[in-house]
Amino acid sequence: MPLASSAATRLRVGGLTPLTTQDYPGELAAVIFCHGCPWRCRYCHNDHLLTTTPDELIAWAEVMAFLKSRRGLLDAVVFSGGEPTAQGALAAAITEVRTLGFKIGLHTGGAYPQRLAALIPLLDWVGLDIKALAADYPQVTGVPDSGRAAWASLELLLAANLALEVRTTPMPGFDHPDYLEQLMQQLVARGVQHYVIQSCHSARMRDQTLGAPYTLNPHALPNLPLTIERR
Ligand code: SF4
Repeated sequence: MPLASSAATRLRVGGLTPLTTQDYPGELAAVIFCHGCPWRCRYCHNDHLLTTTPDELIAWAEVMAFLKSRRGLLDAVVFSGGEPTAQGALAAAITEVRTLGFKIGLHTGGAYPQRLAALIPLLDWVGLDIKALAADYPQVTGVPDSGRAAWASLELLLAANLALEVRTTPMPGFDHPDYLEQLMQQLVARGVQHYVIQSCHSARMRDQTLGAPYTLNPHALPNLPLTIERR
């Protein structure tokens, strides 16, 4: 079994969930939370992970020691964030975890399509955040052209035929049912089959001046050829 490589040890890990049934569909998984993100979404629920220079990190050797102790008990390991693809050490870290026999999941906002394309052969499942229509992304992330990156990432994941779940946590102001239906229509047109709408929690938003989330009627989801789950 290879020891942690120098490349993987550079992965900046800010948190580790030892067991979850929620983060990789149908599998028992651990989640590794990676530091850093190029975007600054006003409703971000993981503000503490945005910095690239955190005060405290979990050493990669500690992560690997934990995962080795869970072989046969867990099915999968999910890399989440922050934005995991922001870190150059991600591919090396995934490669090491794969050697332990776990399936690999990735939570991403699709900020770096080219990096994501290079990672696809290492992945078994992806949860991709699509936050809004492409033109509206800068109002959500604060970053020009972020919508082009996210929707390009969607296109390449669909083209790769990788197991994919598209998720939206609607930001207040972009959460009216008419807007979400327009968004879902664009997803369906591209071939998305599995879609999750996640609740936006006011108390956890980094910008507390945002208004309260729209209260979606659970029975008012559009009739589209799309499996829609609420979380
Ligand atoms: S992409 Fe995700 S982690 Fe980054 S700022 Fe937005 S919500 Fe937070």
